[in-house]
Amino acid sequence: MDGKKNILTKKVVIILVKFIILGPPGTGKGTLADGLSKRLRLKHISTGDLLRTEVKNASSLGKKIENVLSKGELVSDNLIKDLLKKNLPINDFILDGYPRTLEQATDLEKINEIDYVINLQSISEIIIKRLSARRICLNCKSVYGSNILPIVRGVCDKCGGSLIRRADDSPKTIENRLITYKKQTEPLINYYKEKIINIDGNNTPEIVLGITLKELNDRGIEARA
Ligand SMILES: [Zn+2]
Repeated sequence: MDGKKNILTKKVVIILVKFIILGPPGTGKGTLADGLSKRLRLKHISTGDLLRTEVKNASSLGKKIENVLSKGELVSDNLIKDLLKKNLPINDFILDGYPRTLEQATDLEKINEIDYVINLQSISEIIIKRLSARRICLNCKSVYGSNILPIVRGVCDKCGGSLIRRADDSPKTIENRLITYKKQTEPLINYYKEKIINIDGNNTPEIVLGITLKELNDRGIEARA
């Protein structure tokens, strides 16, 4: 023995990564973001949840938001920007539901720079079929669909509440939502072209998660759980 000690016994890998997730309504963005956040130990940040939390906590920002919502108006880009400035972590997150427009993408850039953009793709026919099959519990807001059917038709498994189709999920409204998506959000795909990872969303949630993890693994981002 020459007395030298090998101090490099343990390889410590720290992954710091910032994602956003894009895709038309009804492709399962929320489900994928949730799966990724668990497997990669990222924070799943949804602007919808942040809005609700601020309102619930009655912060000064929450009061402003509540005031807008109570008038039935849309929350402005500036308020969302303030919301993210206050709540977006510095690292290790997946942002779901934002940005939806080029203006929002440039707002986001001023707050934090994104590493990768997951673009969940799905064909319109499948989206329309999936969303028009969706039912929501009036009482506890649990979501059912063609892949998760309630035991008793029209009745929530968890609380016995009535299941309804949201007005948003009627075939006509879905078509309009898809047109809006194409117009507003598709330019983002070009904007982020160097960061895009395209994922085929025409599959079960488990398979979509598996495909995404493999794509990320190819880029040196490994699942931690
Ligand atoms: Zn319920």
